[in-house]
Amino acid sequence: MHTPVFDPWQTAWVYADAVGAPRASAALWQAQRTRRLAALLSAAQRSRLYRERLAGAASSGDPWQTLQRLRPVSKRELMQRFDDWVTDPELSLPALRRFLDGGARSGEPWLGRYLVWESSGSSGEPAVFVQDARCLAVFDALQAARGPVSLVGPLAPWWQAPQRIALVAATGGAYASVLSFERARALNPWLAATSRSFSMQLAPQELAARLDAYAPTVLATYPSMAWVLSEEQRAGRLRLALQAVWTGGETLTAAVRRTVAERFRAPVHDSYGASECFVIADECRHGRLHANADWVVLEPADEQLRPVPDGEPGHTVLLTNLANHVQPVVRYDLGDRVRIVPGGCDCGSSLPVIEVQGRCDDVLTLADARGHRVHLSPLALTTVLEDDAGVFDFQLQGVGPRALRLAVHEPGAGERAADALRAFLQTRGLAGTRIAVTEHAGRLPCGASGKRLRVQASPRPGF
Ligand SMILES: [Zn+2]
Repeated sequence: MHTPVFDPWQTAWVYADAVGAPRASAALWQAQRTRRLAALLSAAQRSRLYRERLAGAASSGDPWQTLQRLRPVSKRELMQRFDDWVTDPELSLPALRRFLDGGARSGEPWLGRYLVWESSGSSGEPAVFVQDARCLAVFDALQAARGPVSLVGPLAPWWQAPQRIALVAATGGAYASVLSFERARALNPWLAATSRSFSMQLAPQELAARLDAYAPTVLATYPSMAWVLSEEQRAGRLRLALQAVWTGGETLTAAVRRTVAERFRAPVHDSYGASECFVIADECRHGRLHANADWVVLEPADEQLRPVPDGEPGHTVLLTNLANHVQPVVRYDLGDRVRIVPGGCDCGSSLPVIEVQGRCDDVLTLADARGHRVHLSPLALTTVLEDDAGVFDFQLQGVGPRALRLAVHEPGAGERAADALRAFLQTRGLAGTRIAVTEHAGRLPCGASGKRLRVQASPRPGF
């Protein structure tokens, strides 16, 4: 058994700060994050790739000005120059790729000091992310102070049994979700005794049987999997008595939240993270996502990666992770559509409220009768299918400027879904769009990490 990467003192220190910061005035954590940004930009000088970028950004001494002048980076560019990207010369991509097929999957530290995970990689090679103890201390502290654990509290009062947490995720790869979960269990004997991970690749009947036998009080999984399991619960094949459902990793729509909460009779708490930065935002008691803005900088941006004003959704978001100095993520084009919501929240937190309007899913571009291009957001399309047709398990693909392919899981739901979609397309001047409908008997395909890509601009292999 290996020793997980962990720095207890750093974690305790960051935890105390993470609990206090949202309750303090915004000016206090803003000053903290300016210092953290300056430290990150200083660390980024040890990365050959960022050193080149920073030289072109003509530093003025003000870290925010430097950041604004820095040209955004893409995953492709960073991965192509991985060895120039990282700040530790002992890290090299070929060795890490070999490690990812072996020890990394059990959470074994690389070089004795790094936790390594891979992104699911919806296209091409998966990206690789390396976390040291300092970075993990921030993720641990933020999760403990602001994550769903802080809302439910696994430390139950003495007259109740402690919470039992079941994570349902892709367990076959070195993914952030399952590695973080297993690392927390390895560090914490009490958590190890009251939590277990389950592979979402199991057949639904077997997964339901194993979950029933374990009888968790908290279910943690992707929204699409939470919905699939809520179908099992509704049908009586699963009989969980949950106190909470924790979701993350995909967009949680209002309809999925409502359906899952009703069927399990338990509140749904969502959080937002990515392989590039595991803890980006967490939901408060009022059900709103607060960005962990003291450790993360989010800049919603348009298609040309120019900033959009607060209140408007971006085409993508530029992510800066202030916690990772080994593999700096600075103005990274994350691809999610994020809106910074102006105004505060009734919970009293001074951390900004955000909405994640689309993750991974694509914008569909179709042509109207005059040949003009019309863009349709994945959130709008998903809402039509969920709210108007009551269809949740679907996959919608663009297969031409006037053609869509729609696959649904539920028998008999195909025409209902297509009708709702046609009515919506008509309102956008797209009445001439052809929709080819298929009904699948089994579960619809998902990526290696188990995430679902329900709206695709064109068919993608592996999804
Ligand atoms: Zn709030």
